Amino acid sequence: MTTNEKKIELEKIAQEIKSFTGLDIAKSATHAVPGEGNPDAKIMFIGEAPGQVEDSTGRPFVGQSGQLMRKTLFETTGIKPEEVFITNIVKFRPPDNRDPNDSEIAACANWLDRQIKIISPRIIVTLGRFSMAKFIPGVTISQVHGVARYYQLSTMNYKLVIFPMYHPAAALRGTTMMNAFKEDFVKLKNLLAPQVKIEDNSPSQTTLF
Ligand code: URA
Repeated sequence: MTTNEKKIELEKIAQEIKSFTGLDIAKSATHAVPGEGNPDAKIMFIGEAPGQVEDSTGRPFVGQSGQLMRKTLFETTGIKPEEVFITNIVKFRPPDNRDPNDSEIAACANWLDRQIKIISPRIIVTLGRFSMAKFIPGVTISQVHGVARYYQLSTMNYKLVIFPMYHPAAALRGTTMMNAFKEDFVKLKNLLAPQVKIEDNSPSQTTLF
């Protein structure tokens, strides 16, 4: 797909999300938050769900935790936020920032799967446990954060790298988590070096999608 074709397909998905009324959180949201960024991004960041500032602007990761994520990305790797693609597993704000539930995650899954396929990133950075669990179920984030692994999605003809990180909101809660969050960005930067080898511990085929 050309960049322009990708843009058109991503815009179609964004319009579907904006006109969706099949969830209570879709009806209560001020704005849906489909995601934004470079259609040819090599890195995709996937968070949990929009917060208050995202809900009022329609843009992902623009509140306090989002600003931390965007700033740390640029300061550590030199990559500008607009060079990557940033989205969430759930596209509407759950009231009072509660955790998204299984039916909300399931209702938004097809949009995310299509966004991944269109963008075809090399690396998916998951921010927080909900996003991590989509790709790496049955583990805790403290066990696996900062460790890259290959992942074969059934819809893709190459293996993606999944790189789980703590959610930036967790980093804002204390120095230990902030240090771990920043260290993981240094690991992400190291991962981008062309000669780096990542252990291939992916199952040969998954039924994720
Ligand atoms: N937290 C998220 O997980 N996503 C956002 O877009 C903002 C805050």
